[in-house]
Amino acid sequence: MGTAVAQLSEVQSFNTLALHAGAVADPTTGALLTPIYQTTTYRQEAVGKDKGFTYSRSANPTVSALERRLAALEGAEYCTCYATGLAATTALCLALLRAGDTVVVSQAVYGGTVRLFNQVLAPFGVTAEFVDTSDEQALREAVTAKPIRFVFIESPANPTLQLTDIELAAKIAHEAGALLVVDNTLLTPALQCPLELHADVVLHSTTKFIEGHNATVGGALITSDAELHERFSFTRNATGAIQSPFPAWLTLQGVKTVGLRMAQHSDNALRIARFLEAHPRVTKLLYPGLDSFPQFELARKQQTAGGALIAFEVDGGVEAGIRLMNNVRLCALAENLGSAETLITHPASMTHADVPAAQRQAAGITDGLVRLSVGLEDPLDIIRDLTQALAQTKGAA
Ligand SMILES: *Cc1c(COP(=O)(O)O)cnc(C)c1O
Repeated sequence: MGTAVAQLSEVQSFNTLALHAGAVADPTTGALLTPIYQTTTYRQEAVGKDKGFTYSRSANPTVSALERRLAALEGAEYCTCYATGLAATTALCLALLRAGDTVVVSQAVYGGTVRLFNQVLAPFGVTAEFVDTSDEQALREAVTAKPIRFVFIESPANPTLQLTDIELAAKIAHEAGALLVVDNTLLTPALQCPLELHADVVLHSTTKFIEGHNATVGGALITSDAELHERFSFTRNATGAIQSPFPAWLTLQGVKTVGLRMAQHSDNALRIARFLEAHPRVTKLLYPGLDSFPQFELARKQQTAGGALIAFEVDGGVEAGIRLMNNVRLCALAENLGSAETLITHPASMTHADVPAAQRQAAGITDGLVRLSVGLEDPLDIIRDLTQALAQTKGAA
């Protein structure tokens, strides 16, 4: 099973790895694509003698192929794939945390991450301190105030796009004896490589740009630390959180173009961000690829492009934002991000509704904030749609 990977060990190019890493041609038919091994169990040759697979809750060949590819793309040794991104976060926490432990989490993170820590893990005695991890002093204070098991950051953060300096966060976490976990969902390894910046674990919701076509839900934990990987695999098997073969197979197809898509998403987003920034109805705009972005220098240091997400506010506050979202035609009003289609979201009422209002305010998620996940349509068509929808916001209180 390892031969396909071994043959590619000399290949460095990201786009080549995205197509070939971890693939296994079917030995009997020669089928080029890794098959969907839709099976629960595996015939064993003799007692105690198997071919590396015994039961599909522990491991499955299609899922393993995806794991090898994602590990290669992040420049890592190991990967475990999960039913969803949040199943990956859950496995991470169950593998590493015990009652009485404290973790430090970026103040602005995916809403489901906040809900998991506050409403599911807190009753088990796990404390999450939400901190502005873009603030070096605040992060240093948080990791030295008491023992911290890990620091969990998202950069850019969803939905404010605030960046955390990954290399600096790794240094601060390690000095305090903590691990650094980076949720790299918003950029993918095509645009940002946290392990190269000394993070210990990368987390993905493969639901987003990795699979890229709005066809699956899935998650991954990627690391080069054998002991951490062993714990993730054990926890995944013990809790039954593994990805299924069919979504893993779809993800193997989607991820082939992740480098091409992220480049195009970023080009399109830059054009649309420039258009929105110059639009008289837009009062505030955040896009890491624009030099108006408050952390533009840091973006240039740790990302190779701005990514697909734009955050902005329209004159007229919440009412104007709602009118904009109710009047788009090409852009889809939807939860989710990272698909080929452009999606528009109101974080305060949709993706981040379960985040306490005070925490939303502290994280900069204002009630009028609009999040745009720029897709792969012709950017002129998206601009046309936004132009007509913005015109409908005039006169909003
Ligand atoms: C969507 C998302 C998640 C959760 O992933 P699911 O696949 O929806 O469970 C985690 N982190 C980020 C940044 C996300 O956008």
